[in-house]
Amino acid sequence: MVTTMHEQPQERTSGADALPILSHWIDGRPVEVLPEHTGPIYNPATGAVIARVPRGGSDEVARAVAVAKAAFPAWRDTPLIARSQVFFAFRELVWQHRKEMAELITRDHGKTFPDALGEVVRGLETIEFACGLPVQLAGLNTPNVATNVDAFTLRGPLGVTAAITPFNFPAMVPMWIYPIALMCGNTMILKPSSHTPGATQLQAELWTEAGGPDGTFNIVYGGREAVKAIVEHPDIKAIQFVGSTAVGRYVYEIGTKLGKRVGAYTSAKNAMIVLPDADMELTADAAVASGYGSAGERCMAQTLVIAVGDAGDRLRPLMLERIANLKVGPGMDPGMDMGPIYTAEHRESIIRWIDKGEAEGAELVVDGRPFVHPTNPDGFFLGVTLFDHVTPDMEIYREEIFGPVLGIVRASTYDEALALINGHKYANGTAIFTTDGGAARRFKLEVDVPMIGVNVPIPVPAGYLSFGGAKESAIGELAMRGEDGVRFFTQQKMVTERWPEPGRRSALSLVFPGNS
Ligand code: NAD
Repeated sequence: MVTTMHEQPQERTSGADALPILSHWIDGRPVEVLPEHTGPIYNPATGAVIARVPRGGSDEVARAVAVAKAAFPAWRDTPLIARSQVFFAFRELVWQHRKEMAELITRDHGKTFPDALGEVVRGLETIEFACGLPVQLAGLNTPNVATNVDAFTLRGPLGVTAAITPFNFPAMVPMWIYPIALMCGNTMILKPSSHTPGATQLQAELWTEAGGPDGTFNIVYGGREAVKAIVEHPDIKAIQFVGSTAVGRYVYEIGTKLGKRVGAYTSAKNAMIVLPDADMELTADAAVASGYGSAGERCMAQTLVIAVGDAGDRLRPLMLERIANLKVGPGMDPGMDMGPIYTAEHRESIIRWIDKGEAEGAELVVDGRPFVHPTNPDGFFLGVTLFDHVTPDMEIYREEIFGPVLGIVRASTYDEALALINGHKYANGTAIFTTDGGAARRFKLEVDVPMIGVNVPIPVPAGYLSFGGAKESAIGELAMRGEDGVRFFTQQKMVTERWPEPGRRSALSLVFPGNS
């Protein structure tokens, strides 16, 4: 039976304030911590502290790495099909618990329940991909490359690996990483965001219930100290990081210097081009959904709308109609379009960005700052904000805000719009809205951004494909998930083997062997 903080109000509490305390998850079981070694978890819809999360550091990381290292040889040697069977069972359990997981996401993060459910289902796609990984792990086999000599390749695991993940997709982003690492035969230390730990805790419990051996999948909570311990631990062979560019750069630089394989998938500022021939109703739906869904806390949100020619004048009133009908409130309330911001500090940071946009001279069309939720005045709510006439010299154009703030940029031509996107320091996702197939085709070839939507505003590739940006949105050679994910979490070995004919030995020769 799976036990979660969510299901079990009788769980251990922190004493005077009687709050549930989450535990690190090491060696297939919870590791208790003292209340003084924990920090608060807030429900952003109410502003109340609802639980406490451990603040781990080098001791907890060392313990998790030791058990992951001990579990590695047996897990590596577990037949592929047996590993796959654990994944099939895990997939079923995550599916059965999807609503519970989504509730935990909404509670910790604030996003609406249907949005959280969508996150779990998109994460499941990568678990389903992992179920079928035996096919991806097959190598090449070339018999008879020389007399009695065969050559083949095989992909083997690396050992103990780690994932460091952000607050904004507490289920989906970890699920994009650890299933592939584990199915390839590695063991894993996950360090999730301390702001949104509930859904990740549930995943570890379900992994154990599915038959995942103890020590294969471990969770250590914490912040800077835990990350430093992971990056510097000599027994961790590879790390995938998802989060801000500043932290990603640190993880990459130190990790690679210490000989680890590191992939960092980082901040973004995505722009969609709207051509004058676009279906403006569809485009207005897309722009508003992409910019304000999940309170703008998505790395693939299109937060700049680059309108070409008269597209901006036609699109803006349609966007305003939709904005007027948006419902902002607690994510568990039915019918809400947008929940609160995940912390009070982040809400303040977004408000400062809106102040800055105004000071920089962008036209403030809709101001989300005054919004107060009528029945939850202490929740971290913010209304949606729309700027128009945003220009490339403004900081609100250049920098990631990660909140419900959309900016319309005006461009005279497609070429000017394209040059804006290709000149931006970030390159995660982009999109074009048009009814002209030729223009869309040209855009796919010319745009310097790896994840592209055509009339699709959040072009997150399907779960069996790779995911990753470029420029300051990604650091490292390989994307995560899909084919790149498998390459990242495996070492290819090239084997050349000779099996002489029975009873025959070749003569000693010091000549470099040819291929005869
Ligand atoms: P963050 O960088 O603050 O945190 C990411 C992880 O690093 C967390 O586990 C956190 O505990 C840890 N961390 C934070 N500060 C640290 C420090 N000073 N030293 C060491 N570790 C530290 O990111 P976030 O606020 O949780 O997430 C939002 C960011 O993530 C945005 O920039 C967003 O664009 C990005 N993101 C990128 C992708 C992508 O695929 N490119 C996906 C989701 C989110």
